[in-house]
Amino acid sequence: MKNAFTDSEIEKLYTILEQVKDPEIPVLSILDLGIVRKVTLEDNHVQIDITPTYTACPAMGVIAMDLVQLLNTEGYHNVVINTVLSPAWTTDWMTESGKEKLKAYGIAAPHQKSKLDKLLFGEQEQIECPQCNSLDTKKISEFGSTACKALYQCNVCKEPFDYFKCH
Ligand SMILES: [Zn+2]
Repeated sequence: MKNAFTDSEIEKLYTILEQVKDPEIPVLSILDLGIVRKVTLEDNHVQIDITPTYTACPAMGVIAMDLVQLLNTEGYHNVVINTVLSPAWTTDWMTESGKEKLKAYGIAAPHQKSKLDKLLFGEQEQIECPQCNSLDTKKISEFGSTACKALYQCNVCKEPFDYFKCH
């Protein structure tokens, strides 16, 4: 992500990007989600490549609009947002701090199964309850508050919660 501009200018751009949140999960910025692929700055012309989390996710339009508006407010009037579909976004791209924020917000973070997990539990998903950290949880519905999330319930504390689905 190197170009002719100084690090402080790029840093300023990233500070702006950090302020753009996922409208469905307002604690997560687009940097937390890991959907920003590339940022280029040339003669005050900003180009940002974004990979949507889910192609059908209506949140992406809102994110692009917020991003352009915020950059305009900050004095960048030449803004182009490119949608890059390949390679497809996976929950692996989410930052660790993003996963922590997601959990603090009460949504189970995407869980990548290790080889050992698969041996012990098979393909069955082990989702940790964001309230009490128990792994004794069950899926209630494939679709939670939005299509990007599934609805789970904890068997220990009985709290229902959203799980950010792995892709
Ligand atoms: Zn629980």
